[in-house]
Amino acid sequence: MAKSQTPHIAILPSPGMGHLIPLAEFAKRLVHRHNFTVTFVVPCDGPPTKAQKSVLETLPTAIDHVFLPPVCFDDLPQGSKIETIISLTVARSLGSFRDALSSLASRTKLVGLVVDLFGTDAFDVAKEFNLSNYIFFPSTAMTLSLFLYLPKLHETVSCEYRDLSDPVTIPGCIPIPGSELLDPVQDRRDEAYKWLLHHTKRYRLADGIMVNSFTELEPGALKALQEKEPGKPPVYPVGPLVKMDFGGVLDDQSSKCLKWLDEQPRGSVLYVSFGSGGTLSYDQINELALGLEMSGQRFLWVVRSPSDHAANTAYFTVHSKNDPLEFLPKGFLHSTQGRGLVVPNWAPQAHILSHESIGGFLTHCGWNSTLESVVNGVPLIAWPLFAEQKMNAFMFTKDLKVALRPKPDEHGLVGREEIAMVVQALMQGEEGKRLRNRMKELEDAGAKALRRPHRD
Ligand code: UDP
Repeated sequence: MAKSQTPHIAILPSPGMGHLIPLAEFAKRLVHRHNFTVTFVVPCDGPPTKAQKSVLETLPTAIDHVFLPPVCFDDLPQGSKIETIISLTVARSLGSFRDALSSLASRTKLVGLVVDLFGTDAFDVAKEFNLSNYIFFPSTAMTLSLFLYLPKLHETVSCEYRDLSDPVTIPGCIPIPGSELLDPVQDRRDEAYKWLLHHTKRYRLADGIMVNSFTELEPGALKALQEKEPGKPPVYPVGPLVKMDFGGVLDDQSSKCLKWLDEQPRGSVLYVSFGSGGTLSYDQINELALGLEMSGQRFLWVVRSPSDHAANTAYFTVHSKNDPLEFLPKGFLHSTQGRGLVVPNWAPQAHILSHESIGGFLTHCGWNSTLESVVNGVPLIAWPLFAEQKMNAFMFTKDLKVALRPKPDEHGLVGREEIAMVVQALMQGEEGKRLRNRMKELEDAGAKALRRPHRD
């Protein structure tokens, strides 16, 4: 069979829905606006999840996908951090990735590879096929600026970053306390830090970096990133890329959410979700439920079963093992009936946030979630859990001023009164109105950024 002459791109998404979803949106742009064809080559450590399949199987026909054989993690020490597991999933898949590229190269005009933040080990394999190497960075320009700066910071600082007396000045960004920096830099002896440093050093091998942000949202960080420096790849702001097309058949749970929203007054509902894998402790779920009840506001809450040992327990699986609704306080569903809707594990979030009944979003500040809020002008309650979410929360509260951040008590628990107060302030108060107006300005700026001609 004759080889297709359409330029073809391989995309290697590292594990995590927060990486796959924006890469899928990016792939659609490559196909629709630039006439590429694309294959997702997906490394994994088990069978594909329902959430992964639902994204990949609904892409346009010019975007294909192949799952690589699962890697084995029998030797992984207990307590390994997600950044280690993600990096090892890619590193241990390189043999099968090479086979997949070889097969693609025999059938298509393969020209380039796109990886995300933890996929740089695949660059060497791509070079064997003379491909151009790109990074799609599915987080903030601020985090990218830190990543490009990290090798230098590592050389100049010898203590833990959280013990620095002065805030860290990431090029182009508002100074930030070391304790607010992303999780894997909080313990420099951990493997996760070593992996991060390894990748950030390799960022300079890329032919270019596309970051899912836009100038009006992060002017300082993007300006710093675009300053030319020997060995630094060009950086292109391509955001805000979020799912905007909601065609296709909805499952029962999704239809229920949207139908319920149709019945609520405009701007009245707080959407509550901790991303694709965020989990709370049992006590925290209890306080959140009672806080929502006490606030008297309408809410739509995506609940996951509790986890007392880590805030990202469901990161690789998305769905909880047990029925999450069983962990809610007794009588909660009854007393909030009509005013609140609770759904287990997963909801059509991007679709929900675009619904006119939504007036606020209590979020873990994963970057896709926050961008989905920005493009819909929905102000935030910032409740960061892991990864770079504290940095995102810091930026949205202190710099952009479109979010409120509830304060935990001395045991790290956010109490019901605090939750009720913050929810009321966002949904009803004057401060909430100010945040909403500022978020609307960002929404407009984001829409304009997507229309800019150089994006096409
Ligand atoms: N998501 C969703 N339904 C859910 C939870 C998450 O559709 O119930 C989507 C959400 O819209 C976003 C992605 O999963 O696009 C989560 O990415 P994010 O960067 O916010 O956080 P992560 O899941 O990586 O922590």
